[in-house]
Amino acid sequence: MKCTRCKKIAAVALPSHNAGFCPECFKVFFSRQVEKAIKERTLFSKEDRILIALSGGKDSLALARELHLLGYNTAGLYIDLAIPGSSETARDHVERFCRDLGISLHVLEMEKEGMPIPEVRKKFNRPVCSVCGRIKRYYFNRFALDNGFSVLATGHNLDDEAARLFSNVMRWDVSYLGSQGPDLPAEQGFVRKVKPLYRLSEFETANYSFLAGIDYCYAPCPYSKGASFTYYKYLLDELEHEQPGRKISFYEGFLNRGRQAFDHIDQEGGEKPGPCPRCGYPTTGDICGVCRIREVMHR
Ligand code: SF4
Ligand code: ZN
Repeated sequence: MKCTRCKKIAAVALPSHNAGFCPECFKVFFSRQVEKAIKERTLFSKEDRILIALSGGKDSLALARELHLLGYNTAGLYIDLAIPGSSETARDHVERFCRDLGISLHVLEMEKEGMPIPEVRKKFNRPVCSVCGRIKRYYFNRFALDNGFSVLATGHNLDDEAARLFSNVMRWDVSYLGSQGPDLPAEQGFVRKVKPLYRLSEFETANYSFLAGIDYCYAPCPYSKGASFTYYKYLLDELEHEQPGRKISFYEGFLNRGRQAFDHIDQEGGEKPGPCPRCGYPTTGDICGVCRIREVMHR
């Protein structure tokens, strides 16, 4: 197969785009998909200060590299969860990556916040991922707001987004359908959240990371029992294999024609969040979820 752009030998075949690319042209393709996402959904501009949530994995590092090369005003935030066997390794990768590219990096240590995940895990009688996810979302949002960032960008890719949509549709979870998308606007107490890789599949971000020589972290979290939405991703992969282009048409179709049917439906019973009396960040309950976790940790 020949490269669709330059006619050299193609290294990556992309049936969903009816195209194939050599290594150099694939990186150009990747960049254009990111730019298209930013432009079509008006995700941000060169005036924005963008905080990138960095985990050390291929997606968040690919996103950071691209936004940096495209000339956006970016900084990274790594949240050190103190998980043995994964946090330290991931942090090393993130620190080296940011140093090499000249991206400024902030690190928040959950040990210092009194919430190292192994301790949290011991105190809570439910799967630690839901508590950990809540803590991460809270601190990414809080750090962005406290430090004057106008946008928080995450490395969610098309597979993540399509699988989440599939799962929400399967349960007809209408409150989540209204608030799903790569372009969640700022609200009182919440920074604007964007997902510029939403047009790119996991296969494409993996290829990009490899071809761009990104040294990302492979060490899986020891507490992950099969990543979320694994089965939905598998089903979508099967479908994509038979009908190339289905994933993006499913997800973009929802954004363009389905989402507006749900966007007036609020989450969590329609209650508008107000400031948490302890930390000032949004909550629909009396105190926010993270202050509740703090309370349990101090018992
Ligand atoms: Fe946290 Fe679960 Fe992710 Fe591990 S797999 S970092 S516990 S959310
Ligand atoms: Zn609080």
